[in-house]
Amino acid sequence: MTFHYSLSSALCLRNEHWPPRDTRKQLRYHARRSYHVLARSWRPQLFTDLIGQDPVVQTLRNALTADTLGHAYLFAGLRGVGKTTVARLIARAVNCEKGPTPEPCGVCPSCTEIAAGSSLDVVELDGASNRGIDDVRELRELLRYRPTRDRFRVIIIDEVHMLTREAFNALLKSLEEPPSYIMFIFATTERHRVPATILSRCQGLDFRPVPAGLITERLLLIAKNEGFSLTRGAAMLIARSAAGSVRDGLSLLDQLRAFADDNIDEEAVGSVLGVPRFEQVVELVAALVEGQAAQGLRVLREQLGSGHDATVLYQEIGRFLTVVLHAAVDANLESDLDETQTSVVRELGSTLGVTALTRMLGLWVEQEGLLRSASNRELALEVSCLRLARWPAVQLVEAILDDQDPGNEAGGPGEHSPRQQSSSGGVGGSRTKATDEELTALLWPSNPRLAGALESAVVVAQGDTLSVQLPASAAGLAQFLSRDDSQKTLREACRELRPEVQHIAVEVAGAESGSEVQPSLKVAALEDSGVQLAQRILGGDVVHVKPDRGSSKPGETTQ
Ligand SMILES: [Zn+2]
Repeated sequence: MTFHYSLSSALCLRNEHWPPRDTRKQLRYHARRSYHVLARSWRPQLFTDLIGQDPVVQTLRNALTADTLGHAYLFAGLRGVGKTTVARLIARAVNCEKGPTPEPCGVCPSCTEIAAGSSLDVVELDGASNRGIDDVRELRELLRYRPTRDRFRVIIIDEVHMLTREAFNALLKSLEEPPSYIMFIFATTERHRVPATILSRCQGLDFRPVPAGLITERLLLIAKNEGFSLTRGAAMLIARSAAGSVRDGLSLLDQLRAFADDNIDEEAVGSVLGVPRFEQVVELVAALVEGQAAQGLRVLREQLGSGHDATVLYQEIGRFLTVVLHAAVDANLESDLDETQTSVVRELGSTLGVTALTRMLGLWVEQEGLLRSASNRELALEVSCLRLARWPAVQLVEAILDDQDPGNEAGGPGEHSPRQQSSSGGVGGSRTKATDEELTALLWPSNPRLAGALESAVVVAQGDTLSVQLPASAAGLAQFLSRDDSQKTLREACRELRPEVQHIAVEVAGAESGSEVQPSLKVAALEDSGVQLAQRILGGDVVHVKPDRGSSKPGETTQ
């Protein structure tokens, strides 16, 4: 096995100059097989090793080739995207015995000392911890003398925005009249906090968040070379969690190696990072887009209960909706999903359609503000999910409003009409179900309470009578439904949907027929603490509660 690993990394070295050229180091790793910090051992040693920063690298390589490198640079961007790595690469490029060159040799004293951090001419300071008067004095000393051996004294200051005013002033003089032998490279995650006097004297280069796809490939390459098992699905989850930071991705991989004993799969990632597995996200989103709020909330609470972070869940749902939308737009679009996942995504994409998905995603993106501002993010996520679950009802109303002849059932709805979905969900699209759902949807915007009451009933149109049958458990709603104003509203609604209806009969079903009638989901949902809180926040009303498949307690609470 050891031989195999060594061979593969040797091949890798020749072809890609990756990992670091120091093969002794590689052999030592293979011999010890102990955990080491991946972010350090896999720090790129050549410009070509760097991922996701092509524009920056191209600019710098061109400047090195043409010998037009500036004397001061400001690298701005997220943490862990390669700013200090590139700074060190530049230091090597300008100071290499064979340089200045875009491809430093990596073996001369300058190159090796800079890589090891022991070069006297390349100074790395951390803006956050070098803020005192003594540090400023030291900085001045550094600027005064010529480099001891190399061409340039390269001064790298990380998190430069943290420097004190005194330190900035000390720098300013050198920046205004730069000695030919000094080169500054400043890095910051907060460019807007760097004084304008410094900004105007530097060439700015923006580092971008590294795309998850590139991080995934890098993680897989590292796993292969280090000889531990990492599934593609797991690598993808880690890459997403890293949110554009390669260093974060590698740190996560370190943690996971320790946790999963070098066998890293999606399950392990899920439990360590609080990232849900693909199937879990599918289950949640499928319930929500079908309007099954209770089912969706149950799944959501399971996820939150198992330690998944609300923000992560929010992002994963949004990401999943995006992938489904992409599949709906172009079923052959390439993605990083496996075969099973791809077929799930395609099916959902074609069922929901591009229009519906675009709007759902829009609605979901709008929830970000709610999640950010909420003191209880889990509750905010529940509210967001409830809003998404309302979507089918909204769509139904729109379909009804758009329909020129709503009574004509033969006149087919649009390609992706929810009515088509609801009938495909029921047994042969029963009339009863359609009446029930259409009435509820029609009433929802103007009279949510009435719509909610109907939700607990079985509604059947028989001749000129609309029969509203309540189960015994929802008998309390009978009085409300029998009220004059409720009856009037119902008749008006029927005028649009079923003009033949003249009478509305409200009945409470006996115990014997109770089994055929849905229990009062509405009542259960209204008693739910999460729903109550959601109502308090939104000021709305619960209007659409669907049977909770797989659970006998639809309005189950977490407390
Ligand atoms: Zn060199």
